Amino acid sequence: MIFLAEPNLTGNERKYLNECIDTTFVSSVGAFVNRFEEEVAQIACADYGTATSSGTTGLHMALKACGVERDELVCIPSFTFIATANAVMHCGAQPWLIDISEESWTMNPEVLEQELFEKTVIREGKVYHKVTGKRVAAIMPVYTLGMPADMNNIKNIADKYHIPVIADAAAAIGATYRGKNLGMFADATVFSFNGNKTVTCGGGGAIVSNNKELIERAKHLATTARCGVDYDHDMVGYNYRMTNVQAAIGCAQLERVQQFVDRKRYVRDYYKAHLQDIEGVSFFPEVEWADSACWFSGIVLSNKYDVREICNELKVQEIEARTFWKPVHLQKPYKEMEKSEMLIADDIWWRILTLPCSTTITEEQLEYVVSTVKKLLM
Ligand SMILES: *Cc1c(COP(=O)(O)O)cnc(C)c1O
Repeated sequence: MIFLAEPNLTGNERKYLNECIDTTFVSSVGAFVNRFEEEVAQIACADYGTATSSGTTGLHMALKACGVERDELVCIPSFTFIATANAVMHCGAQPWLIDISEESWTMNPEVLEQELFEKTVIREGKVYHKVTGKRVAAIMPVYTLGMPADMNNIKNIADKYHIPVIADAAAAIGATYRGKNLGMFADATVFSFNGNKTVTCGGGGAIVSNNKELIERAKHLATTARCGVDYDHDMVGYNYRMTNVQAAIGCAQLERVQQFVDRKRYVRDYYKAHLQDIEGVSFFPEVEWADSACWFSGIVLSNKYDVREICNELKVQEIEARTFWKPVHLQKPYKEMEKSEMLIADDIWWRILTLPCSTTITEEQLEYVVSTVKKLLM
């Protein structure tokens, strides 16, 4: 079977894991955790970083550190992995779902602005949703498939309304926005290091920011809000810190981050070069203002094809291909949430077919995938 996205563990992963065991530092204190935090911040060109147990807990802590409270609203794109919305709910807040733009599949700034303009009022410098009376506490764009959102426009809107921006950059490590690394475009930027991401810790996450207090708040909350060395806690905290074992794998992975991202981009280019002549096939977005980290690659099919059926047929040929995110507004727990029109999200999601794109994929395997896909579609 050629898998969709399997981890590449052929570097120093085993050596660093052995160091954890030999030194007995397997838990949430250890040299690898500190090193991992520094390196993630450095790669993202941010001044500070803190590591968490997952991307989801990283998002949760970033939202809390930015002041999101119970019964507030957070604007997120509906076309995202469910964890973006879940992290908002874990704060006791609710997502306000915004459509994506066709150009990038990321939060559409025009729709965001229109929604805020029509549906909110400003009282004492705070933004309130007119119908529910809930405060709009944050905007959280998602870097879909590793593609940065339209941050200049989103940031302009956020600044106008004085709302903080948290970037769900879960799969975007290694991407650039207007030629720069990602750390500086939001108040906080969150990465995931889950097993299927380009860089993995097995599971894990990180928050980076240029705001030292914000990172300290997030870290404090994620480590049981403990003050000093005694059992003294000043808030209801969480046990969300990354362990040294996770970070050991992560440190080995970060040594090869550029190599991994280059390979992901190569896979994107390969599929594009070899499948573009098929009628009814198009590709994932590329924009001039950002360079995607190409977490996943694949194709978009016209509505004459049934993506599910093609997945099943590929599976018989030992190729793992999959459908992609069903938008949040169509998910059972989120059907009643505040939302914009969903013209693009509704049209796109069910036509996406992700294809094998591990960094370990061989030329032979790529050739096999392409020839098999061609046979099925032509
Ligand atoms: C993977 C992912 C997450 C969740 O990260 P976990 O580490 O699995 O908790 C959140 N948002 C997006 C956009 C993702 O792709």
